[in-house]
Amino acid sequence: MDMQKMVPVREQDPKVRATNFDEVCLGYSREEAVAECQRCIQCKNPRCVKGCPVGIDIPGFIRELRDGHSNAAADIIAEASSLPAICGRVCPQETQCEKYCVRGIKGDPVAIGKIERYIADHSRRKGYVALKKAEDNGHRVAVIGSGPAGLTCAGELAKRGYEVTIFEALHEPGGVLTYGIPEFRLPKQGVVQKEIDNVRSLGVKIECNVVIGRSLTIDQLMDEEGFEAVFIGSGAGLPRFMNIPGENSNGVFSANEFLTRSNLMKAYRDDYYTPIYHGKHVAVVGGGNVAMDAARTALRLGAEVTIVYRRGREELPARVEEVEHAEQEGIKFRLLCNPTEILHDEKGWVTGLRCIRMELGEPDASGRRRPVPVEGSEFDVAADAVIMALGTLSNPLIASTTKGLETDKWHCVKAVEKTGQTSREGVFAGGDVVTGAATVILAMEAGKKAAIGIDEYLKGKDAAKAE
Ligand SMILES: Cc1cc2nc3c(=O)[nH]c(=O)nc-3n(C[C@H](O)[C@H](O)[C@H](O)COP(=O)(O)OP(=O)(O)OC[C@H]3O[C@@H](n4cnc5c(N)ncnc54)[C@H](O)[C@@H]3O)c2cc1C
Ligand code: SF4
Repeated sequence: MDMQKMVPVREQDPKVRATNFDEVCLGYSREEAVAECQRCIQCKNPRCVKGCPVGIDIPGFIRELRDGHSNAAADIIAEASSLPAICGRVCPQETQCEKYCVRGIKGDPVAIGKIERYIADHSRRKGYVALKKAEDNGHRVAVIGSGPAGLTCAGELAKRGYEVTIFEALHEPGGVLTYGIPEFRLPKQGVVQKEIDNVRSLGVKIECNVVIGRSLTIDQLMDEEGFEAVFIGSGAGLPRFMNIPGENSNGVFSANEFLTRSNLMKAYRDDYYTPIYHGKHVAVVGGGNVAMDAARTALRLGAEVTIVYRRGREELPARVEEVEHAEQEGIKFRLLCNPTEILHDEKGWVTGLRCIRMELGEPDASGRRRPVPVEGSEFDVAADAVIMALGTLSNPLIASTTKGLETDKWHCVKAVEKTGQTSREGVFAGGDVVTGAATVILAMEAGKKAAIGIDEYLKGKDAAKAE
């Protein structure tokens, strides 16, 4: 075995997977996972842990699996994370734990994410639940939203003995894990729902179809329903558009709508009555993970797909693995070009995009080189459907129905980073609703910090009463 090289992971063949919604990455077998664990040199000061936002004892779980103790490995992960099979699949490890792994200095880093995924999948197959229920401490907390921020906050509070109820607007829990990230990257029944069930096994209740700000307000939760603290983890689900001519044409979708219809409403399955119009030539505007997911979903629904992105390849914000997978499956990239108009026929149906070529100028506030239009370089791209994947904002509903809850100019709820405390007493927040669209693991980190913040807040109230 070459100790400088990662044990390769098996994947579905690109030609086959481009026609189905089954998971692309097949994960490690036990032998492969153990062989990869043997590459870890068990550093005394493990740099990988510093790169993990939730601080998992990475050498600890690798050592336990290497020595044949898979339950002990799962227990170590459960101390810091309630969603390991999800994180093992979708976390950008290459910019986090694996980026800092010392093995990466001279060769490939240890495949920490793939090992974590193996441990979580193995526990699930065996029916081993590492999360442990605590004794009830008599306090009640409400969590708004069942995405990774809400699930993590709820799980961490339940582990400390709190009675937690999650209120979720949609008919299924999971947030973006359920309605955004496609089945072929993150299986819903087999993985997401099972990890949500593990959080439920801690005693967490999930009430779906409750829109906080409409069905109930935060004030009602606290004044009438008896919740002593509230965590807002309502995400950033409001799509952005370009505000260019023709954007209201038939056949223009936000990536959010397109992916929600496919994932949550199962538009890709013949046995569901909620199909989606997907066109034969789809243009996806944007270059992030959401754009890749929308493009690869449209491809699997039978379209030829082109991604239109205003910067170059180096600047694509999507994970490298996702870009490579998209290319292998046959998605075309038109880089350094930007739509200026959506073209349509006399009945209002999309016929294409008018684009302008771009060149890269000086770096902007994000540190990436700013795209500048090249005058007179317009050209048309034919398309019968257009998917806008330009990022999202948080929905202003909760802030507009909760007095004293401060937000910034993008409607993001303002919260103290260390504790999640907002401007309203007893109300905490974290995840995309605070930061804007970010990542699963950062939402989990925020959920965990807020759980600790809520615990300290309620213990402080108890102590004050006792004086
Ligand atoms: C298509 C797509 C692909 C992505 N791919 C990746 C990836 O590969 N890796 C990665 O790390 N990140 C990825 N992300 C980003 C990541 O999924 C998010 O950063 C993360 O899910 C944010 O978690 P959250 O809990 O803050 O919010 P969400 O996951 O958005 O969950 C919020 C929940 O709150 C509910 N809600 C909203 N308003 C209310 C209300 N008023 N009342 C009750 N409930 C409410 C929503 O219905 C939702 O279920 C992706 C995002 C998208 C959209
Ligand atoms: S930095 Fe790499 S080699 Fe060191 S403990 Fe972490 S995973 Fe193992």
